[in-house]
Amino acid sequence: LAVIGAILIDLDGYTAVNDLIGPGGGDLLLAQAGRRLRAAAPPQATVARWGGDEFAILVTDCAAAREVVDLAERLAARIAAEPFIAADREIPLTASVGVALTPASTAGHLLSNADVAMSRAKEAGGGRVAVFAPQMHDEVLRRLELAAELRQAISRRQLEIEYQPIVDLASSRVVCVEALLRWSRDGEPASPQEFLRVAEDSGLIVSLGDWALREACRSVAAWHASGWQIGLSVNFSVRQLSAPGFAVSVLGALDEAGLPPEALTIEVTERVLIDSAAPTIAELARLRDKGIKLAIDDFGTSYASLAYLRQLAVDIIKIDPSLVAGLGSDPTAALLTKTTVGVGHDLGIEVVAEGIERPEQLDQLRAMGCDLGQGFAVARPMAAREVAAMAAAQADAPACSPVV
Ligand code: C2E
Ligand code: MG
Ligand code: MG
Repeated sequence: LAVIGAILIDLDGYTAVNDLIGPGGGDLLLAQAGRRLRAAAPPQATVARWGGDEFAILVTDCAAAREVVDLAERLAARIAAEPFIAADREIPLTASVGVALTPASTAGHLLSNADVAMSRAKEAGGGRVAVFAPQMHDEVLRRLELAAELRQAISRRQLEIEYQPIVDLASSRVVCVEALLRWSRDGEPASPQEFLRVAEDSGLIVSLGDWALREACRSVAAWHASGWQIGLSVNFSVRQLSAPGFAVSVLGALDEAGLPPEALTIEVTERVLIDSAAPTIAELARLRDKGIKLAIDDFGTSYASLAYLRQLAVDIIKIDPSLVAGLGSDPTAALLTKTTVGVGHDLGIEVVAEGIERPEQLDQLRAMGCDLGQGFAVARPMAAREVAAMAAAQADAPACSPVV
C-alpha cells in the first residue's frame, strides 16, 4: 500500500547554541543541517525549512510505511553523526523527529499529526524519532481532562508536599530535604510525572510551583526556628524559570518565610539549562549571587553532560538514578559515576547520588567519595510531620555531634 509520509525535524538545544555562537553562526549551522538533510533524503522528496530550527520532509511515493520511518531514522542519524562547525567550534547536535503517515491522498492532517509526534519525541528527551499513532489524539483529550481536574484540585488546596531527606554519606546526617509535589486524586496518588507534565503544558505549573515553594519554605523555616539548620531543595521547570518575575518571587518566598537564601537549592534538569534563553540564565545567576544554590537534576542522562559541565555555573549535580542503579552490576555505570564525582570535585561542585536503593550502592558511593545521597535505602519521601519526628530523633543520635 503506497503511503504519503511527513517528517518534522527539530534540532535539540538549538536556542542555547544560538546564544553561544551568535545568530550568524546559528544561521550557518542551520544551512549545514539543511544540506545534510537534503543529501540524505531521496531526490524526489521535498525538503523544506519549516521555521526556526525545524525542517519538514514530505515523501509522496513510498511503497510502505517502513520506508518513511527508515528515512526518518537516517535523517536523525545524519544530524547526530558528526559535529557541526560554526564560529570555529565543533557543535554536536541531535534532533527530535516526528513522523506521520497517510495511506491515500488525505494529506490534510498529516503535518499537524507529525507535529504531535515531534512534541512526543522532544518530551521523551530528544534525539529520537516518534511516529504518530491515533491514540495520541485520545491522550491529548485525557490530558485536557486532567488539566481541568488539576486546576480544581489546586483551587481546593488538595495538593501536598512530601519531603525526601538528602544525607551526608560520610556521617549519615540529614543535611537537606527535597520538596516533592503530591496529588491524591479521588483517594489514589496521581503520578507526579504525569500531572506535572499536564501542569507544565497548561501553564498551571507557575502558580502551583509558587505555592509549593512557599509551603516548603514555611515548613523548613519552622525547623530552623526549632534549631535544625536544614537545607531545602525545590524543583523548577522551564516554564517556571521563564515566567515573568521568577527571581523576584523566589526571593519573596524566602523573605516571607524568614529563610536565608543559603538554605535554598533550585533544582533544574540539564536540558532546562541548555534550552533556557539568556535572560533566564541571567536571573539564575542573580539568585546565585544572593546565596541560593543551583543544582542540575537527573545528571548523566545525556552524553553531552560532562562536556557541558564546565560551561554551566552550578553548585550541585545530582547523579541520575539510572546510573546509580547500575552500581554493583554494571562497570560502565560505576566508571561514569566515579568520573562524575571526580570532575564535579575538580570544578568545586557538590555531588548528590539519587535513587540509592541498595546497601551496596551506598558502600560504593562512599568509597568513591560522593558527598551526598538520596534514595529509598536512605529515606522515602515523607510528610512534614514525619520529617519533624526524624529531626527530633536525629538530635539525640550520636552522628549529630561534631566529629572529634
Ligand atoms: P526528581 O527531582 O528527580 O525527584 C526524585 C524522584 O525520585 C521523586 O519522584 C522521588 O520520589 C523518586 N525517588 C527517590 N528515591 C528513589 C529511589 O531510591 N528509587 C526510585 N526508583 N525513585 C526514587 P517523584 O516524586 O515521582 O517526582 C518525579 C519528578 O517530578 C521529580 O523528579 C521532579 O522532576 C518533578 N517534581 C516533583 N515535585 C516538583 C515540583 O514541586 N515542581 C516541579 N517543577 N517539579 C517537581
Ligand atoms: Mg529533583
Ligand atoms: Mg532527579
